[in-house]
Amino acid sequence: MKTASALNTYLKETGGWVAAQLEACTRCGICAEACHFYQALGNPEYAPVWKLEPLRRAYEQRFTLAGKVKLALGMEKRLTDSDLEHWSQIVYEACTVCDKCAFVCPMGIEIGPLIHKVRTGLAAAGLVPGDLAEATDKQKTIGSPLGVTDEMWRERIDWITDEWEATIPVDKAGAETLMVFTSIELMKFPDNLALIAKILNKAGENWTVSSRGREVVNFGFFEADEELTKLFMHRVFQAAEELGVKRLVISECGHAYEAFRWTAPNIMKVPEGLEIIHITELIHQYWKTGRIKIKEGAFDGETITFHDSCKIQRLGGLIKQPREILQVLAPTSFKEMTPNKEQSMCCGGGGGVISIKEADSNRYKVFEMKLEQLQDIGAQAVCMVCSNCRLQFVDSLAHFNSAVKVHSLAELVARALI
Ligand code: SF4
Ligand code: SF4
Repeated sequence: MKTASALNTYLKETGGWVAAQLEACTRCGICAEACHFYQALGNPEYAPVWKLEPLRRAYEQRFTLAGKVKLALGMEKRLTDSDLEHWSQIVYEACTVCDKCAFVCPMGIEIGPLIHKVRTGLAAAGLVPGDLAEATDKQKTIGSPLGVTDEMWRERIDWITDEWEATIPVDKAGAETLMVFTSIELMKFPDNLALIAKILNKAGENWTVSSRGREVVNFGFFEADEELTKLFMHRVFQAAEELGVKRLVISECGHAYEAFRWTAPNIMKVPEGLEIIHITELIHQYWKTGRIKIKEGAFDGETITFHDSCKIQRLGGLIKQPREILQVLAPTSFKEMTPNKEQSMCCGGGGGVISIKEADSNRYKVFEMKLEQLQDIGAQAVCMVCSNCRLQFVDSLAHFNSAVKVHSLAELVARALI
């Protein structure tokens, strides 16, 4: 039954694009060395190309002569429920869908989006790891993967407003800009809301948050369940339409940025004329146009580096914006890790991995490589623009007893405002 649901989904998902991508693969294995899970754990099953195997088998065995012959001669088996259970561990617990593997593939195969399709089949078969499924369910029923109810959200916003003397407009009709935060920021890094509010207010922005569209994270997207992915984005789009805003600003979440910016226009109706940007772009625009001023050298002194988020920098291309700002804030002590920019290594916690307890050992093993990159340049602090990455850094640095400090870019900018 599980296998039938997964196979039906794979066959439905396999159009010309998927078939062409799968046919183009030469099984050269070059992608393996690009994957941080494969590098850190050495498990051959973590090679990106192997993660595509359920999709490939479904396609070949149904649509190609070679696949049918291999089946008939017993050279290849049909997928079973236990095979799919096994692949669930591989693609949810040892893949952050960071898409670095696609960068090295000589055939230009978009491995990340294909792994997303493998997840889609597993989600249809009910084979999403328990913790991830639970968080998704909370987002569906309560409105937040961390279980933040409407009432808790209100109380939290009020508390942040008092604690940091922040001005956070709620449900302001006629606002130009709708700012949508993550539950991670709300619950784990509440100062980030206050500091972003400070920047927006300083820039004179006519903005608001929404009690209806209050969650930017999308656990349906992590699972790869299209209906839930749409539902969670629909809540935000509906809020944007009701408030009549012209711009939607995605706070610090890489996957949310991908979902709203690139996935939404392909799978659902996006309110006409709505501009969708990441908070990094907005802060950079404010600074470039003189709407905010920041103190030069405010953080010079300790060696600070920047962690590139897979979906915001590698996919989204926002590579120069944070660096231009960091060059002002720390002109002599900003240092790059290696690799960096679009070649940067994922933190290991994205794609839903950090929410799965069983993936903790994988996650820490991968982070050891990031820690080495920090140590190689003597970093005392690291800055980033994704709260999911930030959670992984904070948790993993504590796990390894490291004293490296973790900051969001918005936090540094807010603290350096003139
Ligand atoms: S690098 Fe590309 S062509 Fe080579 S095995 Fe990986 S996906 Fe296939
Ligand atoms: S998307 Fe990232 S984590 Fe997943 S297989 Fe490719 S390199 Fe590895």
